[in-house]
Amino acid sequence: MTLFPEMVMGGLNNSIIKRAMEKELISIEAVNIRDYTLDKHKKVDDYPFGGGAGMLMQAQPVYDCYKAVIAKISGKAESDAFTDKTRVLYMSPQGKTFHQAMAKELSEEENLIFLCGHYEGIDQRVLDKIGVEEVSVGDYVLTGGELPAMVMIDTIARLVPGVLNNDASSVDESFSEGMLEYPQYTRPEVWEGERVPEVLLSGHHANIEKWRKEMAYKNTKDKRPDLLKTIM
Ligand code: SAM
Repeated sequence: MTLFPEMVMGGLNNSIIKRAMEKELISIEAVNIRDYTLDKHKKVDDYPFGGGAGMLMQAQPVYDCYKAVIAKISGKAESDAFTDKTRVLYMSPQGKTFHQAMAKELSEEENLIFLCGHYEGIDQRVLDKIGVEEVSVGDYVLTGGELPAMVMIDTIARLVPGVLNNDASSVDESFSEGMLEYPQYTRPEVWEGERVPEVLLSGHHANIEKWRKEMAYKNTKDKRPDLLKTIM
């Protein structure tokens, strides 16, 4: 749910995510909240009560858009669709910070709704009525929830079985086991006088595995020692 559907689809309809949509492993639809406003000038925002800078998205268009989306997901009439509890993630700097384990958990959901705010945010009453979960991409403030939603959708989609060519590639990655990934190399064996570590050319799988584990540990200790504290 967004005021900028082209931005979301333009950003996601590429490369691996595009292929996943074509293969119908996932389906992504950006719904324009503005299509649901009852205002004759198609307005979706207004001044905040009590004063202050900027504009706020109004409750009505957001709620009517939400009702249409859950009805579409459930295939039921709007009035009956409320029994189907699809999680609504509100992109918000005030939310819990998104991380890989959250992405893994969300990738197991059948349906998800991402609600993107804009301007100074959204009237609190509709957030409460829908019962949103607030999720942030980090401790900074963006102009809208579209980029955070794209970040989350991309991260979650690649964890859906079959989206990556080789399912193991998301298992080995940074954060999946609480550690960063080991360094990787490709052809040629020597580039600008620098050789690929010998063990990777040895064909000895157990030694390669051992080296990778050690390097993953070293990488994590050097770059993100805080991660080691959480897994030890
Ligand atoms: N006034 C709000 C506040 O101080 O909490 C910030 C509003 S922000 C300018 C507009 C919209 O961008 C928000 O409603 C939210 O959807 C999105 N947004 C901004 N920063 C974000 C972040 N770090 N993570 C997720 N969404 C964010």
